Amino acid sequence: MSGITSLTDKDRIFTNLYGFQGADLKSSQARGDWDKTADLMKVGQDAIIDVVKASGLRGRGGAGFPTGMKWSFMPKEPTAGRPNFLVINADESEPGSCKDREILRHDPHKLVEGALIAGFAMRCRAAYIYVRGEFIVETEALRKAVAEAYDAGLLGKNAAGSGFDFDVFVHRGAGAYICGEETAMLESLEGKKGLPRLKPPFPAGAGLYGCPTTVNNVESIAVVPTILRRGAAWFASFGREKNEGTKLFQISGHVNCPCVVEEAMSIPFRELIDKHAGGIRGGWDNLLAVIPGGSSVPLVPAEQIMDAPMDFDGLKELGSGLGTAAVIVMDKSTDIVRAISRISYFYKHESCGQCTPCREGTGWMWRTMERLREGDAQVGDIDKLYDVTKQVEGHTICALGDAAAWPIQGLIRHYRPELERRIAERHGAEREAAE
Ligand code: NAD
Ligand code: SF4
Repeated sequence: MSGITSLTDKDRIFTNLYGFQGADLKSSQARGDWDKTADLMKVGQDAIIDVVKASGLRGRGGAGFPTGMKWSFMPKEPTAGRPNFLVINADESEPGSCKDREILRHDPHKLVEGALIAGFAMRCRAAYIYVRGEFIVETEALRKAVAEAYDAGLLGKNAAGSGFDFDVFVHRGAGAYICGEETAMLESLEGKKGLPRLKPPFPAGAGLYGCPTTVNNVESIAVVPTILRRGAAWFASFGREKNEGTKLFQISGHVNCPCVVEEAMSIPFRELIDKHAGGIRGGWDNLLAVIPGGSSVPLVPAEQIMDAPMDFDGLKELGSGLGTAAVIVMDKSTDIVRAISRISYFYKHESCGQCTPCREGTGWMWRTMERLREGDAQVGDIDKLYDVTKQVEGHTICALGDAAAWPIQGLIRHYRPELERRIAERHGAEREAAE
């Protein structure tokens, strides 16, 4: 079914992304939200999961795990003492990512309606929406939407006249990046320090308060009502096989018009930038490199990304990833070593310190990056740094360790000559000074 890689306005799910209309219930209903929600639910829980599976929707939080499959892991007969829960991850903190924020601010009813439908499909007692601590306006907008939904009988007992009882709780975090990691988020919701848990068990086995839980990203849940209304085949008509659907891209950096935009999956990079971001600052010849999916994924040099399909598999083939689809564009004025060193600092700062390779490794990698930035190193330090990234990658409790290692690996893979140039320049200058 897939194949369309460019959206027209009528295909967009998020029709109020820029807030030109109200975010209130009445305005949202005028845009089609909450339209006969109970009828959508009447098809039954397993049928809803089947539609989500058939749509090809993959998690929009960065990892791209198939959403329908994740839902199917939840017990079909929860007990009163061990209810199922849905947790919605609105702790958007990945550098470059800023899409869930727009949904919370301008289209919160899509998320609340999606929470009800997803919660119903997975037989959940309630949903907890965990919002990033810094999102004050967004939390207010979401809380208002939830209150409106309760007042209108769309949540609570017999939600939306469906015969299903469902509650939604909004919880604002305290500003820790690590609480966006799903198991750290569960710990935080339970009132504990946000330390990631070892997986398995995955949350569907033992999640919030030890109960079966599914953690989904805001965008993943907010697209569900439209998928049910328009059909799985409609959603799957965008993008390409295993990379279906529409997607919110967040384009920042050295483009003429940075923006958040909904586009078809698999749109070629150059088309995405020309169509929505007004091209590269100073023209296409001025493009240096792109981080295509938020700070956790390796950069891709200009010449490799131009025609690349912006999707999970296309970017994986380039040794990078779609991640959150936060596209960070860097032109030739960028000090690429400094940019990656700054990212290293971020991960060192945000490491929870629970496991040794990450706690010690992130600091060591950042300090080495800083020395390389100055050229104050030996050529052998480049290989040593690469080795250390390999010792951190895959050897930690959560994905933060990998996220700290991958950007550095990308830098060394693509810009080793630049690192060597800095070292040679510095050594040359020191020799001259000594003579
Ligand atoms: P992951 O691949 O470990 O898991 C993805 C999801 O699939 C999780 O919900 C996990 O429970 C589930 N899952 C995976 N394997 C499973 C299995 N065998 N059985 C049952 N469930 C399974 O990745 P992750 O740590 O959740 O996410 C990492 C990604 O998050 C990074 O790639 C990064 O792009 C992204 N990220 C996003 C933000 C943000 O602000 N949105 C912040 C940091 C990181
Ligand atoms: Fe904490 Fe880092 Fe270990 Fe994750 S990888 S649990 S952030 S120390």
